[in-house]
Amino acid sequence: MAQGMNSQQPVFRLEGVSKSYGSVTALRDITLSVNGNEYISVLGPSGSGKSVLLRVIAGFDVPDSGRVVLEGRDITDVPAHERGIGFVFQNFALFPHLTVFENVAFGLRNGKVPVAAPDVEQRVKDMISLVGLAGMEGRGVHQISGGQKQRVALARTLVMAPRLVLLDEPLGALDANLRHRMRNELRAIREKLGVTFMHVTGSETEALAMGDRVVVLDHGRIAQFARPDQVYGQPASPSVAHFLNRYNIFEGELSGKRFTGPFGMIDAASVTPADKPACAIRYDRMKVEEEGTPGEGPAISASFVASEYLGSSVMYFFEAADGRVIEVEHHLSLGQPQSFEPKRRYRLRWKPEDAIVFGRG
Ligand code: ADP
Ligand code: MG
Repeated sequence: MAQGMNSQQPVFRLEGVSKSYGSVTALRDITLSVNGNEYISVLGPSGSGKSVLLRVIAGFDVPDSGRVVLEGRDITDVPAHERGIGFVFQNFALFPHLTVFENVAFGLRNGKVPVAAPDVEQRVKDMISLVGLAGMEGRGVHQISGGQKQRVALARTLVMAPRLVLLDEPLGALDANLRHRMRNELRAIREKLGVTFMHVTGSETEALAMGDRVVVLDHGRIAQFARPDQVYGQPASPSVAHFLNRYNIFEGELSGKRFTGPFGMIDAASVTPADKPACAIRYDRMKVEEEGTPGEGPAISASFVASEYLGSSVMYFFEAADGRVIEVEHHLSLGQPQSFEPKRRYRLRWKPEDAIVFGRG
């Protein structure tokens, strides 16, 4: 968690913000409050409203209703360039004819408030060094790699000393290796500056790894806003569980707290409110047994399809009688991987308390 003087003070809030484009509702009644010195991830599938959310905060788009409040001041009608909010784009949007230094200096040299030349020099130098590009000041932006371009884009935004930094899929254009490294760097740079970052991503692993808190958007609504461990362990809806890509989700019937699905029946300790009944079990909470092994509680038969190594764990893919794919994750820290015979049927079992039951309980 972010630590800092003002970490529990809201740096900005949205109050009932909605935005439509014709018949498409991009944001529905978004109310949200973000603290100072905090890393916020925004997760959601394509089209869920992530970019529109950032654009409304930045002032590139005007909400149809609702207010945007920055440090206690209503900025809903303040133009984007007067908000003091930084924006980092996925495609970097650098000036191709300028050097690294000149790209970073551009905003200071061309802003509304004049900055003295020696101050420009110093601030640009410091920022280039902070993002790890010291020595590359004189290079053209066509002479640096994709990861370095992303750092220039970041430095160019941060040098303006924004009160809030919005990043729209900032790592999306980088290859997997670099993306992973840049995650740690982004977090480290943010911590040094103590400024709040709001980072949009379509990747659940990135959102969970990076955010002090995660906003999950579903069709323009906030489906959940909580710490990564809470989102991961207690998804607020079947959709959130689905976006996390870590849960097998079964539909079924709910009567009181009794859920009946393709695996039999379980009595839930609690029911998470949702429109439709569903039961979610984490991939790594499912055990694979030989068909016919005696045991109690919920279980489903499925035939083995394939496995896949992920480095620290193995995924096993099974197919149930109705054709649905069921995934089981085995963490290698818990022991050697099992080997299964393709097309053979196994019994997948879990503890009733590991099932998250949704519905109108
Ligand atoms: P994402 O979560 O992928 O970033 P967006 O926030 O870009 O999604 O878009 C949310 C919804 O709003 C989508 O249905 C999109 O088509 C629509 N939308 C976004 N911007 C515009 C626009 N300028 N004009 C019309 N529709 C838009
Ligand atoms: Mg987007």
